[in-house]
Amino acid sequence: MTIAIVGAGLGGLLLARVLHVNGIDAVVYEREPSRGARAQGGMLDVHLETGQRALREAGLIDRFHTIARRAGQDLRLLEPDGTLLLREDTPDDAPLDRPEADRADLRDLLLDSLPDHAVRWGRRFESAADGLLHFADGGSAPYDLLVGADGADSRVRALLTDARPAHTGQNVVELGIPDIDRTHPDLAEMVGRGNYWVLGDGRSLSAQRNGDGRVRVYLSFHHTAEDWLATNGIPFGDPAAARARLIDLFGDWHPRFAALIAACDDTVLPRPITTLPVGLTWPSTPGVTLLGDAAHLMPPVGQGANMALLDGALLGLALAAHRDDAPAAVAEYEREMFERTAAAGRLSARIQDVLASPDAGRQMLAFFQPG
Ligand SMILES: Cc1cc2nc3c(=O)[nH]c(=O)nc-3n(C[C@H](O)[C@H](O)[C@H](O)COP(=O)(O)OP(=O)(O)OC[C@H]3O[C@@H](n4cnc5c(N)ncnc54)[C@H](O)[C@@H]3O)c2cc1C
Repeated sequence: MTIAIVGAGLGGLLLARVLHVNGIDAVVYEREPSRGARAQGGMLDVHLETGQRALREAGLIDRFHTIARRAGQDLRLLEPDGTLLLREDTPDDAPLDRPEADRADLRDLLLDSLPDHAVRWGRRFESAADGLLHFADGGSAPYDLLVGADGADSRVRALLTDARPAHTGQNVVELGIPDIDRTHPDLAEMVGRGNYWVLGDGRSLSAQRNGDGRVRVYLSFHHTAEDWLATNGIPFGDPAAARARLIDLFGDWHPRFAALIAACDDTVLPRPITTLPVGLTWPSTPGVTLLGDAAHLMPPVGQGANMALLDGALLGLALAAHRDDAPAAVAEYEREMFERTAAAGRLSARIQDVLASPDAGRQMLAFFQPG
């Protein structure tokens, strides 16, 4: 059986790895020209019962522990006036329940665990018909089972469902402070070793320390239109002017948050947030399935990468258990995946509602400290 995986993201690579350790060959087709072609983004918290479970099934948990950052679990929660609502510092002997890992390190770990020929770079999937994949470069390749692991804007998805991601009303601008310990030690102290969240009044600021000393800063604007990033007057082509405009948009917040924005470098990236309907399913179709964001794009509140990793592991295990019956393996995988990811989607939507509420800080505090 020829298994073709479209997309060398976390989910697709985890699937390829689980198949590899079970002696099943698969080919991953990735549109990027090489592994280093695109910066991979920030930190991910990898949960014990989902993302870490997947890495354990893939025989990679020990290697994961070498890249996991325990202190990344630290959390500071504040209100826009600077009031500290919650501070959690991770003890040195705390369990690794939700350590942070650099997305690039995690992807490298997965790529290094596969034979060189497993990933074909520079192959942008366009369509599939009659057992052949067609790529943007005019090439084609045969398949018996096609797994769409091609992320939020999946092209494989259209083979199974008409559902499309829809805007959530949240628009994010990503910025960052490089080498913060050296360049801005005062702000490094303020942000701490893990996550720093300021929540309130339909806007939020989150800062997150990465393994390489960069602090990524995400500014969120809730209840905004799909075209808001294009129409709100943030000049993305002029980073200094964009920072000035963003400081203006947070002008009624405590001045320490403006200082954080002012310290950022010239990376100013617009990120509209879209999601698929919670609980999306499709009739099981021989020869094609989806995993990760392609199947269940959720708000970015800590579930998506974990679900993608576990999807990859469980689909790989199902295919190993039903070697001569791929349709049975896919049906078994989809049954579990639909239920598990619908629950994760509902939880993510609830957190998203809290983040968008007028008193988000207090509501989030209640979420962390119920009762
Ligand atoms: C700002 C932000 C922060 C986040 N933080 C977290 C977090 O802390 N924890 C968490 O669990 N999740 C987080 N997420 C969500 C997480 O990033 C995704 O859920 C996860 O990356 C999905 O993995 P995936 O393998 O499905 O897709 P992706 O990682 O998106 O990989 C898809 C791959 O497919 C390739 N591809 C796309 N189209 C084609 C094509 N036509 N042909 C060939 N290849 C193609 C892409 O180049 C890419 O390599 C965050 C998301 C965002 C936006």
